[in-house]
Amino acid sequence: MTDQLAHAPSYLAEYVEQVDALRELGYRYWQEGWSRGTSSNYSVLLQRDPMHILVTASGKDKGRLSRGDFVVVDGAGNRIHEDAPKSSAETLLHCIGYQCLPEVGAILHTHSPWATVLSQRFFPAKGIELQDFEMLKGLRGVTTHQQTVWLPIFDNTQDIPALAAQVQLFAQNYPSQLAYGYLIRRHGLYTWGRDLDEAARHVEVLEFLLECLGRTICMQ
Ligand SMILES: [Zn+2]
Repeated sequence: MTDQLAHAPSYLAEYVEQVDALRELGYRYWQEGWSRGTSSNYSVLLQRDPMHILVTASGKDKGRLSRGDFVVVDGAGNRIHEDAPKSSAETLLHCIGYQCLPEVGAILHTHSPWATVLSQRFFPAKGIELQDFEMLKGLRGVTTHQQTVWLPIFDNTQDIPALAAQVQLFAQNYPSQLAYGYLIRRHGLYTWGRDLDEAARHVEVLEFLLECLGRTICMQ
């Protein structure tokens, strides 16, 4: 990384470790084709009460995130530091995730081609049922390939507060169905974990499973 990319603004100095971990993930996901251009956003929970979230800034290339491309927001998505850049347009989805899922410590959002096309194909069913794949065991608490994992699909909209309200309502009514993540139609995947390592593993496992499902459909 160049000196310019490695310069951390003073308000992020104490979070450099988390910032660098998210920058590294951004580069990996850009390489994988899961976070092309300025798409995607990533966050970690810094503290729960009062809620402080470290989240990517709006409109940044995920393949070359600098230390200054991050923002600390509160539970309503408002910047804590006035001189910080604007946070991701989808920040509220991170806030709602942490509020609805008390064990979650990191949330990752990718825009992979398979998540995008499968979220369209399965939208009429309102979700995707993943089963009979050995890789399911990479998800927290899954011990057999026979376990079924449900990924709900929400319709895409630029009205993020409305989308966040839908996710919140779903989490209240069907909490167990929101165990690992959800898809947004023709848009991408949201997943999470108790910490960043677990969330990153869930991204890899779910992206792998979605690609397997997509390739299987293409071969039929
Ligand atoms: Zn997105």
